[in-house]
Order: sequence, then C-alpha cells, then structure tokens
Amino acid sequence: MNKVAVIGAGTMGNGIAHTFAQSGIKVNLIDISQEALDKAIATISKNLDRMVAKEKISEADKTNTIGNITTHTELVRGVEDVELVVEAATENVDLKLKIFQSIDEAIQPNVILATNTSSISITQIAAVTNRPDKVIGMHFMNPVPIMKLVEIIRGYSTSDEVTNTIMELSKKLGKVPTEVNDYPGFVANRILMPMINEAIITLHEGVGGVAEIDTVMKLGMAHPMGPLQLADFIGLDVCLSILNVMYEGFGNPKYAPCPLLVNMVTAGKLGVKSGEGFYSWGHGTKDLIVSNQFK
Ligand code: NAD
Repeated sequence: MNKVAVIGAGTMGNGIAHTFAQSGIKVNLIDISQEALDKAIATISKNLDRMVAKEKISEADKTNTIGNITTHTELVRGVEDVELVVEAATENVDLKLKIFQSIDEAIQPNVILATNTSSISITQIAAVTNRPDKVIGMHFMNPVPIMKLVEIIRGYSTSDEVTNTIMELSKKLGKVPTEVNDYPGFVANRILMPMINEAIITLHEGVGGVAEIDTVMKLGMAHPMGPLQLADFIGLDVCLSILNVMYEGFGNPKYAPCPLLVNMVTAGKLGVKSGEGFYSWGHGTKDLIVSNQFK
C-alpha cells in the first residue's frame, strides 16, 4: 500500500491521515471545507511536535510525516490515484451513500473502499457500489495515533481476501485489528453508547451531577475517563447519530437517545469540537471545568 485517500478531515480524519503518513504511506486528505483541512494539518503538526518533545520520533520523522500528506477539496481528484480509500466524513447515512456512489464510479474497480463509520451498515454502504466484496469497515478509535484498536467490520458481501488485506495493513500501522460482523453499532458502540446514554439520563433525572457521575465511573469502575467527558471527546452529534442508528436498526426503545442529548446537539453544544458540552473546553482539554449549564 503506497497511497491512500482519507475522506473527511475532522476529529477522526486528521488522526487517520497522521497514522498512515507516519507509517510512510502517502495520503490524500480530502474535505469539502478548506478550514477543516487547515485545522487538520495544524493538529497533526501539533501532535507530532508533542511526539518529538517526548523523543518518540525525530524532527526528520515529523517532516517526512507532514510531507506525506496532500490536501484536496475535490473528492474525485483526491481519490484518483490511490490504492485504498478510508472514508471518515460526518456520520450521516445519506452523505456516506452519496460519497461511496461517486467514488465507486470514479476509481479503478480493484480499489478497496473502507469506512470509519461508528454504526452505519457496511452492507448498506456496499450495496450502492459495484464492488460490495471490496467494501469494509475500518473503525479506528479516538485519538487515532494513540489508540491501538481497529474494529474491522465485514459487510454481508465483504470477501476474505479484502478482510485479510485490511487486517494485515492495520497491523503494519501498529494497530490491533479485531474482526466483527455488521450489525448496528458493531461491538464497540453497541456496548459503549448505551452506557453514555444512561449517564446522560442519570444527569437529566438529577440523580447526580456531571462531576459526580464521571467520578463514580472513573474511580469506581477504573475507567480512564468518565462517560460524560468521553461523550464530549467523541462529539455529542456523533453520539446522537450512533444512538439513532441503533434505535432504528434494532427497533428497540432501550437505544432511544436521552432528550437532553438531543437538546444539546440542537443547541450546538457538541463537546470539545464546539468548545462546550458537559464540560467547558474553550481553554483547551487539560483542565476539567463543568459547563455553566450544569453547575
Ligand atoms: P467530524 O464532525 O469531526 O468531521 C467530519 C468531517 O467530514 C468534517 O470536517 C466535514 O467537513 C467533513 N465532510 C462532510 N461532508 C463531506 C464530504 N462530502 N466530503 C468530504 N468531507 C466531508 O466527525 P468525526 O468525529 O471525525 O467522525 C467522522 C467519522 O468517524 C464518522 O463516521 C464517525 O461516526 C466516525 N468515528 C468517530 C469517532 C469519534 O470519536 N469522533 C470515533 C470512531 C469513528
């Protein structure tokens, strides 16, 4: 694998581009927003600086990594000459189907199309292409350069050959790939999102405050961070989309998103990326300051 395209330069796209580029693979990073692309390159550069400071990589490694990334705002131009596409655009089914339809028409039939979706059916995405055997879920975790797991999701028609290629590639990126099947939320979010939703319901019902709920889960269950802080890191819009996919996909009310989560997303309070969620993030991500809304 010499060259890949990463579609979407948000929270996940910048980390995925970083990880491929640091492994010596050329990356076309594509986003409809030039601002998102500029922010992604700045984030990657800042994260690499941190690694240089900790002597995990050299200054030359940083230069080579940044040099491996080219940015594009035009989807078709960006996927023209690559061997793999990893889609990490906004978690919206219509958007993803549109993206996969256009890239399928634009590139060679042997190119593998992977999606970083958190919950949307790989089989449904594959069905809008002419290569359903070459469509696969490659679900990286946030922050991508640090987290070891990649959940590899086989759609109904994904071939053994494509699954093996992506498993091997993930290992070459220094990750631990884990193969699962294609049902709403797969394994990671099937288990994580009901916990996050229940934490929000617990807050909404006044059983505990933001700091109290997160402290119980951190100190009581040895979680590295509480579920409300984690929701802010993931993005509350992303959490809401995943819960809706599971709610509709299983037709089970246990996945119904808490009305407080719906309200916060409607109000534009999306967590770290918007500066406020359950916590206030305007100052950066070091100190935990509960949002004024919940004090
Ligand atoms: P995000 O909102 O941070 O970024 C999404 C990016 O996609 C934005 O920059 C947006 O401009 C871009 N985009 C939208 N339409 C596009 C198009 N047509 N072409 C190119 N770019 C387009 O979202 P995110 O959190 O990075 O999530 C991206 C994907 O990764 C989603 O499928 C999400 O479910 C999944 N995911 C997210 C997390 C997480 O912790 N946030 C973890 C694992 C997987």
